[in-house]
Amino acid sequence: MKEFDYICIGGGSGGIASANRAASHGAKVALVEAKQIGGTCVNVGCVPKKAMWFGAQVAEAIKLYAPDYGFDLRLNEFSWKTLVESREAYIKRIHGSYDRVLGNNGITRVEGFARFVDEKTIEVDGEQYRARHILLATGGQPVWPDVPGAEFGIDSDGFFALNHQPERVLVAGAGYIAVELAGVLHALGSETHLAVRHDKPLRGFDEMISDTLVELMANEGPTLHTHSDVQKVVKQPGGSLTVSFKNGNSLEVDCLIWAIGRKPATTDLNLDKAGVKINEKGYIRVDKYQNTSTQGIYAVGDNTGQMELTPVAVKAGRLLSERLFNNQAQAHMDFTTIPTVVFSHPVIGTIGLTEAQAIEKYGADNIRVYRSAFAAMYTALTRHRQQTKMKLICAGPEEKVVGLHGIGMGMDEILQGFGVAIKMGATKADFDACVAIHPTSAEEFVTMR
Ligand code: FAD
Ligand code: NDP
Repeated sequence: MKEFDYICIGGGSGGIASANRAASHGAKVALVEAKQIGGTCVNVGCVPKKAMWFGAQVAEAIKLYAPDYGFDLRLNEFSWKTLVESREAYIKRIHGSYDRVLGNNGITRVEGFARFVDEKTIEVDGEQYRARHILLATGGQPVWPDVPGAEFGIDSDGFFALNHQPERVLVAGAGYIAVELAGVLHALGSETHLAVRHDKPLRGFDEMISDTLVELMANEGPTLHTHSDVQKVVKQPGGSLTVSFKNGNSLEVDCLIWAIGRKPATTDLNLDKAGVKINEKGYIRVDKYQNTSTQGIYAVGDNTGQMELTPVAVKAGRLLSERLFNNQAQAHMDFTTIPTVVFSHPVIGTIGLTEAQAIEKYGADNIRVYRSAFAAMYTALTRHRQQTKMKLICAGPEEKVVGLHGIGMGMDEILQGFGVAIKMGATKADFDACVAIHPTSAEEFVTMR
């Protein structure tokens, strides 16, 4: 039996961050990972996705914008394989950097799948490990639908395993992953279809965002199929897939990607042996300090059903280690006003309340909404103009900024700084007091009237 101060189950965003912070405060730490170090984000999430998105940006620059900037380009070939190889080489370097930092911090690495024996003991491949404190940072997995032929599709993990570009592809789903993967595939040249169950994708976002995305998709692609719930999938003798929808329509494609949500990785851990309670959807119940129902066992990240973003898992994991190993008894994560970006085409950035949420919270008479719409300058010089739309939602007589939303080039990089201002409680007057940077898209946020 090996003894530690802290065992982190899951070597993804939350587990690595928490393990390193605990070790930096002198704790004896073990990190258990069943698959690859880095977890979802590094291996099948943020990082490979952003690499593909950068590839798509290059494709758009060449195809849509280069000619009007005076470049006479002849594109002979796009090699999916080269892009994937560059991406995977980059990920390999990230693995190396994790190995170094974890090694420098003296963290014991355990490879394999952990299961609880009791509330202080876990077992990995027949070996037992004990600790005073155990963290569950096991993340999540893609959800698959229960329809005939679903197995002929792939999920987002399968997308990253593709070693050739699909010619015709259908992405089924309406959230972050569906929108991002459909955008990348379309920009890289696949005939791409996005099928959503309702009237539009990203229904939970501010209406301006989801409606503008739909308008842009109508102008630029991919092809959006609304009210299109998949009923069945049939594999044809030649290998193509016929996807039938409940509305009676059907599509023939070479690749079908399910992007209909994710579920927590909380089965098979023997949580009952440790008394750790989960909710009806399988998420681990935690309080604001990330304590589970069992003293000495904690959970952070996607398995808690809190906002499923890497920086959220990272911050929650670090704060937990500050509390447990650095005497910061009150350290805990603040889950309010978290900025988030969808790497769509163009990108979406959003923080705080949507207009509908603000009306519900403050009343329509107590909010003021400022808007801006314009063609992004990068595109305004060209025949391929692309809309940017921005919105500020302010509440109360002091016009505190309670929501900021934008869709357009650069929103991914614009949002972080405004996030700081909003987190500090900035008002519209504070925004206006900051001199604009010209010519940028960001300046619209400090000049709205
Ligand atoms: P994970 O990173 O999933 O790590 C959990 C780890 O635990 C895994 O490596 C798993 O193998 C391991 N594990 C599970 N059970 C056990 C066990 N019993 N024993 C040992 N090991 C175990 N977020 C962003 O902020 N920005 C983005 O751009 C972004 N893009 C994304 C794109 C995609 C396609 C996906 C799927 C997700 C994306 N996310 C993004 C979300 C982000 O990846 C997750 O929120 C984040 O990885 C969650 O971290 P985590 O530590 O909770 O879990
Ligand atoms: P999401 O929760 O974002 O979206 C899934 C959506 O799919 C649902 O909201 C639903 O929308 C639709 N859906 C559900 N079931 C079905 C079905 N049977 N058929 C068709 N559509 C269905 O999940 P994702 O998997 O896209 O992403 C998971 C999380 O990962 C995100 O919420 C985000 O937190 C994180 N992530 C973050 C990224 C980033 O930061 N850029 C990128 C990728 C993921 P509707 O009800 O409208 O049909």
